[in-house]
Amino acid sequence: MKVEDAIRFQSDLSFFNELLANTKIKVLAEKRIKEAHRDSYRRSLLGHSLRVSPRLAPDLFKYVRKAQEKLELGDKNIEVYIYNSPEPNASCSYTGGDDIILTFSSGLLTSMNEAEISFVVGHELGHALFEHYALPTHGILEAGSLDASDAMKLMSWSRRAEISADRAGLFVCESPKAAISSFLKLSCGVAHPIIEFDLHEYSSQIQDLSELSKNTEDTSHCYSSHPFNPIRVMAVDLYSQSDEFRQLTGQGAGNKKLADVDDSIHKVLAYMEPVSDEEKQALHNQAMFWGGAWVAFADGHLAEEEAENLIAQAGEAIYQEGIQELEQAENPVELAQARFIESSKPLLSLGASNRCAFIQRLVVVARADQNIDDRELEALTEMAKIMKVEPSFVQQILMFLD
Ligand SMILES: [Zn+2]
Repeated sequence: MKVEDAIRFQSDLSFFNELLANTKIKVLAEKRIKEAHRDSYRRSLLGHSLRVSPRLAPDLFKYVRKAQEKLELGDKNIEVYIYNSPEPNASCSYTGGDDIILTFSSGLLTSMNEAEISFVVGHELGHALFEHYALPTHGILEAGSLDASDAMKLMSWSRRAEISADRAGLFVCESPKAAISSFLKLSCGVAHPIIEFDLHEYSSQIQDLSELSKNTEDTSHCYSSHPFNPIRVMAVDLYSQSDEFRQLTGQGAGNKKLADVDDSIHKVLAYMEPVSDEEKQALHNQAMFWGGAWVAFADGHLAEEEAENLIAQAGEAIYQEGIQELEQAENPVELAQARFIESSKPLLSLGASNRCAFIQRLVVVARADQNIDDRELEALTEMAKIMKVEPSFVQQILMFLD
């Protein structure tokens, strides 16, 4: 098997093929590649950076050659440039053919050790190996004629392409530790000894991403070309333990199947994907159910009308699941309250009028038995506060309904 097939993240390849089968995207991509002015790029590099030879930068060239060989890119002619910037950065320019241009900032070369630089070189050459240039994401988006769903798909692919490139980097340096410390240096400029890296603690930041993903109003993360760093760290760490990677690098059997590793990575990548309309509706219905249950149980029992109304508002499936939990709970009000606080979080990103409309729906559910007692009113007022709606709004609706 060719090395590129062995290490490429499968869903990078499937998204890549799917996008290139989209005529509109393919035409935009080809146009952009044709317009890429390689000569003027080289001229500007020659003017603003230093082109280095194996004699001028023997160590760096050694790392580049090693990566080139491991990635089976021996037939390519690689030009290497160093430019002056304290920010650690590297890039690869390749648009097919035999020539690859790699650039490194001085900040990257002075802050990284051999294994870290090898990771970066492998990552950059990985982009060339997988021919990612065929989908110049920014160029395609700049054309401005893609609809939002195609644009988001393109960026989803771009994040998958980075996972593949990271695997190429890991394959070259063979050190997950070096890969992770190079991520740290690329993201904040420093690593050990300033940062005592703790994989477990860092991975917990993925939890924050899962919260972020439920923000249905702000979708800027869906347009990010790179996966957030905690995702890349997790992906590299998992891949390094896979049976396939360990066999490939002669380290014996691993403790994870690549298919399982890829599954876990898909799950966290999904945090950066747009939330579908059905998912949005489900989030609403969850919050509606727990809010409704909180009021309904506030007066000690669930009236038949209240139950019917809850089903109508939240749907049968959510109702059945929730009601079972409530029946088993020692204190159903407390449970409903906790669940409401949790499930209403995604709705906080809604505009004020939508949050008010949500509270209004809850008031209607609460009034299903034609009566609101003090405990129910208190629960509704609490919910309004949680949803950042003026509490007096509850009173206003009740007056209006009377
Ligand atoms: Zn990259």
